[in-house]
Formats: sequence, structure tokens, C-alpha cells
Amino acid sequence: MGRKIKADICVIGAGSGGLSVAAGASQMGAKTVLVEAAKMGGDCLNYGCVPSKALLAAAKKTAEAQNAGPFGIRIAPPTVDFPKVMDHVAAVIAAIAPHDSVERFEGLGVTVIEGQGSFVSERELAVGADRITARRFVIATGSHAVIPPIPGLADISYLTNETLFDLPELPSHLIIIGGGPIGLEMAQAFVRLGSRITVLEAATALARDDPELTAVVLAALRREGGDIREGARVSSVQQDAGGELRVTLEGTDGKEVLAGSHLLVATGRGATVAGLNLEVAGIEYSRSGIKTDARLRTTNKKIFAIGDVAGGPQFTHAAGYQAGIVIRNALFRLPAKASYEALPHVTYTDPELASVGLTEDQARERHGDKIRVLTCPFSDIDRARTDRLETGLIKVVTGRRGRILGAGIVGTHAGELIHPWVLAISGGLKISAMASYIAPYPTLGEIGKRAAGSYYTPGLFSPRTRALVRFLSLFG
Ligand code: NAD
Repeated sequence: MGRKIKADICVIGAGSGGLSVAAGASQMGAKTVLVEAAKMGGDCLNYGCVPSKALLAAAKKTAEAQNAGPFGIRIAPPTVDFPKVMDHVAAVIAAIAPHDSVERFEGLGVTVIEGQGSFVSERELAVGADRITARRFVIATGSHAVIPPIPGLADISYLTNETLFDLPELPSHLIIIGGGPIGLEMAQAFVRLGSRITVLEAATALARDDPELTAVVLAALRREGGDIREGARVSSVQQDAGGELRVTLEGTDGKEVLAGSHLLVATGRGATVAGLNLEVAGIEYSRSGIKTDARLRTTNKKIFAIGDVAGGPQFTHAAGYQAGIVIRNALFRLPAKASYEALPHVTYTDPELASVGLTEDQARERHGDKIRVLTCPFSDIDRARTDRLETGLIKVVTGRRGRILGAGIVGTHAGELIHPWVLAISGGLKISAMASYIAPYPTLGEIGKRAAGSYYTPGLFSPRTRALVRFLSLFG
């Protein structure tokens, strides 16, 4: 016999978006139910951000050992104990998991129900035999890997981000279909751990980012031995009895067959809506996700959707931000709207690639020739020289009267170095603010101030300024 539960807010999906809503709502006094069909923590903790960054961190150790020579330090070529590397990844997940656990959420006063939620009406959800009615629902069921319709793919065993971190052995040749953030981050992790890597990207790798900055990432990956192909057309895949994979590419100059030991499919994400019975609740959705307005309400105004399932920006930090918008709308009845003007994103390759706001091309499209592009290479920064981190640059785009339209950084710690630029855009700071604070020397962060300062260089060192200084010197 199932329970009949009445709640103020019922959250479906315990990934980063859903957990943020549930924790916030419960601590603010709302009677909160959280429904999860699979693992607490969702993709980010189990199959995404956490394991991928843990794996990249392990892989970076090999690169650090190999790159110690110029410092006068000789380190013997590292040997990779792959099962131990994967133990490290699992241990990191296990260390973070309690924060997202059923026990922690129940401790916060949330009723956690493990099972698949399915709407039975516009206001009621079934989970097994339980029935939940809530004043507001929040759908945060995330996304899953989209599998492209490549002939043969359905008949072979391939990896996705959900199975990659269970690999028992290091792939000898990992072929990756898709050159987005997942494809390239994993390409670098595995090439550094010792796999041969081929990335097959149908269009342009990291297409959402500024091509001048992505070029630096691609060059670094290729220098490390990654075979990254853009404009690649995979026409079919096959697997022989021994497990060996064959990927056929079709190009203008004929066919090419690549043999690989493993295949990772990283060609984008699809919204996870299966089984939710959205039609019954009057919720419209398409292949790209659940339709929402700026307040993140679905076409059923009492039901919100956040995170990957809402089809917008697919980042954990976007879901966390959206959770705050939903709490303001659902609990406080405030008409808060989501705005992504200051939403950053980072690809955690080495060098990292981070950006916020508009790229140069986007800014030019919207503002024409009124924009200015300010750049500074890492090689101009003393701390980058001492630490031999000269690869990369910052690029800042400004509009009228020094308004900051966007910033992109490719280089070591770009994900950290982008923070002040995110704050600048969200706080409406002008480029003058970024040029005039006192930056500690010697730090990599000086790169931002240096780029901002270059906004004033043409005026400061102009013949007019020189004439003014000479004129003022006449007065003693
Ligand atoms: P993506 O959509 O960013 O990239 C997929 C790539 O696959 C595209 O470049 C596309 O052109 C290519 N592609 C599609 N079909 C193909 C085919 N048949 N053959 C060859 N190439 C094909 O997807 P992703 O890399 O899987 O990432 C999924 C989501 O997760 C994205 O929204 C991404 O931003 C997010 N993510 C973010 C981070 C991060 O912020 N560091 C890391 C991983 C994933």
C-alpha cells in the first residue's frame, strides 16, 4: 500500500540542480520531497565533472613529470598503473558522495523517495505505489548521451561518459566520436595516461568557443600526440570477433578505416524525459528539452524545469544558478528570471579554456565595429615565465565606453583566472575597474589587469599626452 504525500515542493532528480533546490527549499522551511530513480548526485558526481576532473588530475601528473626537464629536474618516465588511477577516481567520488547522499538530505528534513517519478495528473506524481501532490514540482532529471545514427553503432560495444569511468584497463587506441568538451577533455586524459587517441569531430572542435583560443588547445593536444580530426565523416563502425573496432571515415579522397581498441561516443546530450509522462501534466518538450520561460516555468505554470533537461546551458553551475531562480519563484513568489549574460564555461584541458560573455565574433555581430579587442599573452607575465606556463593568452572584448562584453582565457588555471571577469560582467564593472586595482606581483592573474590596461595605451602614450606632459613641466 503506497503513501499519499503532500508537499510544498517536489523535486524530481537528485543531480546538482535538484539537490540545490531540495536543500535550499527544505532549509527555508518548505515541506520538500526529492525523487531519484538512480544515483544521488546525478551525472556531475558519478559520470561527469567529478570523475573527469579526477582523471584529468591524475593524467596531469604524467605531464608534469615529463615536463620537468627545463627546470633542471630529471624525473624518470612515469609508469601508469591504470587500475590504481581508477581507484583514485572512485575514491574522489566516494569522498564527495556523502554531501549528496540520502542520509544528508533526510538530515536536512527532505523526504527522499528512490524510484522513477511519473506524472499521473497536472498536480500529482506517482513513484511506485506512492502518490505525491505538491504545490510546486521541479523537474531536474538531467540528460544522457545522444547516440548518433551511425550504421553499425547499435551492434557494437561502445563507451559513453556513463561507462568510461568503469574501464578496467587502459585502452590501447581510444577513438572518440565528438570533439566537444567531453571528447577533448577525455582525449587529453587518455593520451597522457598512455593511450593512442583519435578524435573524430564532424564539424569544428569546441565550436562554442573563440577559434583563436581553441586553436591553442588543439595545438597542445596534437603536440601531446592526439590525432584530432575536424570535418570527419564517420560512415560506419564495426567490431570483429576479437573485440577490435573498425571505424570507417568517408572523405572527398575516398574511404579510410581506423582500427581501435575502444570507442567513446561524446556527441552531445539529450534531455532525460522518458517515463515522466509529461503529456499528462501538460508539459511541452522537444528533442532539445522541456520548454521553459525565463522564470523556468514549464507550460504547466506550477511545474519548473532546470538543468540539462531544460535544454539550456548544460553545466552544473548553470543548474545551481537556476535552482536559486526556482526557489525565489516557487517559495517567495518573486518573478525572478534567469539571465545567462554572465554565465562562464570552462573546458578543463591543459591549457584550460575559459570564457564568459560574448566572443569576439558574437560581439562583432551584435555591436559591429564599435568593439575593441584587448589581448595579452601569458608570455608577457613574469609569473608565467618563472613557472614556464607561457602557453596561451587572454582576450577581452569591450563595447562603448569601456563596457565589458566578454572575456576568454586559454592557459593554465584559466578557469580560476576567469572569475574576476565573471564578476565584472555580472556586476556591470567597466574596463577601468579591471585596469586600476592593485594586482599582487608576481601572479598569473596580472594577465587580466595587463589586458585591461592596454585599453588605455593608445590614449596614454599618444603625442597629445606627451605634449600635455611637456607643457605642464613648464610650470616648475
Ligand atoms: P557537445 O554538444 O558539446 O559536443 C559534441 C560534438 O560532437 C559537437 O562538436 C558535434 O559537432 C560532434 N558530433 C555530433 N555528431 C557527430 C558525429 N556523428 N560524428 C562526429 N562528431 C559529431 O557535447 P559533449 O562534448 O558530449 O558535452 C555534452 C554537454 O556537457 C555539453 O553541453 C558540454 O558543454 C557539457 N560539458 C561541459 C564540460 C565543461 O564545462 N568542462 C565538460 C563536459 C561536458
